Order: sequence, then structure tokens, then C-alpha cells
Amino acid sequence: MCGIVGIVDAGGVSFQLYYALYALQHRGQESAGISTFDGKSLYKHKGQGLVAEVFDEDILRELKGNVGIGHVRYPTTGAKIPENVQPFNFRYKGRDLAIIHNGNLVNTQALRQEYEQRGQIFCTTTDTEIIANIIADELRTSNSMEDAVLLCMRRLVGSYSVVVMLDDTLYAFRDPLGIRPLCVGKTEQGYVIASESVAIDAFGGSFVRDVMPGELIRVNADGLSATRMAVASHTAHCIFEYVYFARADSTMDGTLVYDVRQKIGQKLYESDYLQADIICPVPDSGTAYAAGYAMRSGTPFLEGLMKNRYMGRTFIMPTQAQREQAVRIKLNPIRGNLKDRKVVLVDDSIVRGTTSRRIVDMISEAGADEVHVRVGSPPIIAPCYLGVDMPTRKELIASGKAEEDVRESIAATSLSYIPLDDLVEAIGIDRCNLCTGCLTGHYPLEIQGEKSCRRAITYVDGTYQSDLTLFEAGQGTS
Ligand code: AMP
Repeated sequence: MCGIVGIVDAGGVSFQLYYALYALQHRGQESAGISTFDGKSLYKHKGQGLVAEVFDEDILRELKGNVGIGHVRYPTTGAKIPENVQPFNFRYKGRDLAIIHNGNLVNTQALRQEYEQRGQIFCTTTDTEIIANIIADELRTSNSMEDAVLLCMRRLVGSYSVVVMLDDTLYAFRDPLGIRPLCVGKTEQGYVIASESVAIDAFGGSFVRDVMPGELIRVNADGLSATRMAVASHTAHCIFEYVYFARADSTMDGTLVYDVRQKIGQKLYESDYLQADIICPVPDSGTAYAAGYAMRSGTPFLEGLMKNRYMGRTFIMPTQAQREQAVRIKLNPIRGNLKDRKVVLVDDSIVRGTTSRRIVDMISEAGADEVHVRVGSPPIIAPCYLGVDMPTRKELIASGKAEEDVRESIAATSLSYIPLDDLVEAIGIDRCNLCTGCLTGHYPLEIQGEKSCRRAITYVDGTYQSDLTLFEAGQGTS
């Protein structure tokens, strides 16, 4: 998963990009980068680490210009190596082209082979560089970014929210199924495009709207224009963005994420009306869910675990025993809140089950009488190929396992998950317009070796088939 942002603003962009990336840090902690353009030259800085580790004030002052893009990365395709840190910057026919991408392509191999066959060379192992090559290929012949984006929508299979900076103009586009989020906001003297609305809030911008699936937004000093390049018969917004990935204070595709999570918490209570002493969140991902559960049940919301906010990625322990110990530094039980209590422990999801097991143990050792685990998503039974780092079926605790077996392995008194229909109702988007691949094993696109939804977009010989209408450039002005 990654976070992306692009800004055009007459007052300079580097500090605004930095604040936006800071707000998107939850979408990727492996590396960060910014590229800007001042009308003549491209300026760039990127590196591995958190936003605050990669940039400082002096660096930001050197990133000159009124247009720029920024990226935080959590690797899904491509190794954790410096070459793969975005933005990627190219010189092409005397122009500066920089690109950032959130998502994951599923036809990376085929496209890479095809382009290598044509003599193209690659510097990275990412799918993003393939998108850059497709764009350069079209620019070579038509010199039109609109045509280049159209070609991307014809050729790319997977999820992609992309921002390209071509000299002083930003081009932002979202895949026709709208799998990953992307939105537009207004800055003091320009516009911003970002993965989530919190990035716009971070520097006092105002949210305008979501980028539509299949839409191309063009922004420069003259203003903003939008064109619908492709329309699919349905969308496939990632359901896991609502469950875990997006920040609770983001509004995505018309819905405040916190509201969704709170509603799920309410529905979790309505599924069995369990009477407990306290409702305790797994910090921080379970907080909104627990708040909803507590509100609906009338049982006190009380924290039973405190998270150490200062434990960074760099906290590495060499031995297994020390790693086990590290969990205790990360989370510590508040014994007085837990002792002799019947606890409902609420979390967003169980993936491998290791976190849940440790937390249930910790709460039991702190003296809780019972630990009832309630989960804000249905069991995760299948991997994600579209941008979320989900392990293989073998590593997913719920894959091929009965609920009772999962309960036993996390040592909970009871366990229940939100049913898929309730989750969909809480999100408020029709089920056929959501990607539920990780929960159902049915995907909205053809993925080799996996099952597709009934209405999945299919591709033959590398181009789209039915159910996806591609407009000629300019035809679908929105
Ligand atoms: P576990 O069951 O040990 O794999 O941990 C699950 C917890 O990790 C969930 O409650 C989430 O808060 C968080 N989580 C879920 N999905 C991811 C992901 N793709 N990457 C990182 N953390 C995740």
C-alpha cells in the first residue's frame, strides 16, 4: 500500500507536500519522496525511512517550484531497495516526467516482458515503472497525455491511482474500478490531489470531491480540468480500506470512515447482545469499532491496553525472546481496568492471528475473567493482489479453518466476526461496487488461478473486453 499526493500552488509546494505525506504515513512507512518543478528544473529528494526521517527543513527549502508530487511506500510489488523508492523521475524528449502510484498491477510480468522485448530497459522492479513506460510510449507517437492515460486504461490490469508530473502540469488518474482511493482538494492558490482527505486537511486545504473511477484530472497554474476516460459497469472500491487501511478521519468515496467503523461496532453488539463489564479496543485500529459497540450496548468504553506511541520501525530485536518482549513494550495492559472483568475486546481484523493471540494472553494475564473477541471484518480467507499486503492462504489464520478453531488458537472465551452483509450495509455502498476479494476469494478482475466475480472485467490479449467503455480522449468531459 502507498500514499500519494500532488499539489499545484502559486505559493510553493514542498512544505504542503511534506505535511500531506505526514498525514498519509499510515499508508506506507518504508520510504518517502518528493519531486518538484520550478518551470525550468526538476528538484527531488527521496529515501528509505519515515517522512520525518527522510526530510528536514533545509531539504524542503531546496525543493523549489509551484508544482510537485510526493509518495510514501509500503512495498507490494518490488523489493525494499533504494531504486524502488518513488517518485520515479525521467527525462524524456527534453521534458521532465515524474510519477507516483498507489496500487498493484496483476499483469506486470506480461507487460514487462513485452516492453523488454521491444528493447526497453528498466531501472527498478516495480509495476510503476511499467506505467511510466506505457506513458512514454504514447507520448512518443501522439505527444498527448490524454492518449497516454487512455492507453494505460486499456493495458493495465489491477489497481492504480497515479499522479504524473509532466513539467509544470499534474495528471492524476484512477483505475476504472476505483479500487484505491483518490480525491481532489483546493489549496490557498491552487489544487491538491491525494490518496485520502486527511492529507488535504493536514495543511488547511479544503476537500472538493473524490476522483471518479476512470477519470483523468489535469491541474496546472491555469486551473483544473477533468475528463472521464473510462466507465466500467460497476466499481470495486477496496473494502479493506474501510476496515483497516484508511485513517478513520478520512472521507472516502462519500463516506466518513469513522462512521463506518462505529456502525460496524454497533452491529457487532446487535449480533449477540453480549452483556460485559467493559468494551476495550485494540489500540488504535479497534477504537472506532469499540466506541460504536459501547454506545449501542450502554456498556462502558474503557481502555485495557496502552500503546507506546514512540516505538518506531527501527525498534529491531535480534532474538525471538527479545521480540516477544518487544510486544510488551509496544502494548502494556492497564491491569486495574481489566482485573476480574468480563471484557469485550474489539479489533478491526484478524489476519495471521499472532497479534490477537498475544493480546488475548496479555489481557487474561492481567486478570480478566473472560475475553470475548469481536472483529470488525468477516474472516480474511484469501490474499489481496490489488495493493494490500495480505499473506498467502497458508498464513491466513481463518483460511480453511472453522471459527471455533480460530477462537481456540487465539485463546478467546468467544469470538465473532461481523457478517459481510452487515459490513456492506455499514459502508453504504452496494456490494457489487466493492472489492471483497480477501473476504470471499472472488475478485473484480481476472487473476490467474483465482475466481472472478460474476461481473469481473476481463482482458483478452492485453486489452479490455465487455463491461468497460473507454472514451476517446476528450469525449467524456466531466
Ligand atoms: P495479525 O492477525 O497478527 O496478522 O494482525 C492483525 C492486525 O494487524 C489487524 O488487527 C490490523 O490492525 C493490522 N493489519 C491488518 N492488515 C494489515 C496489513 N495488511 N498490514 C499491516 N497490518 C495489518
